[in-house]
Amino acid sequence: MAVCEVCGNDYDKSFEVVTAGNRHTFDSFECAIHLLAPVCEHCGCKIVGHGIEVQGRWYCCAHCARHREGEGVAVDDRV
Ligand SMILES: [Zn+2]
Ligand SMILES: [Zn+2]
Repeated sequence: MAVCEVCGNDYDKSFEVVTAGNRHTFDSFECAIHLLAPVCEHCGCKIVGHGIEVQGRWYCCAHCARHREGEGVAVDDRV
């Protein structure tokens, strides 16, 4: 049994995620995404798939990255 650190739910099927050496406990992917997913710098949505990182800034898709960084940005669109 472990308590979700986002919503406080005490759930027997909770799971742990280790990211950059920090251990987190969640009861659902929704809570994990809420805490861990980066947010698109352009449209503000949670990035749950393969986001795009441009010099430390995260975007949900190449469209958003180009919109904010300019057409010249080298974007590897893996989405
Ligand atoms: Zn939760
Ligand atoms: Zn976006």
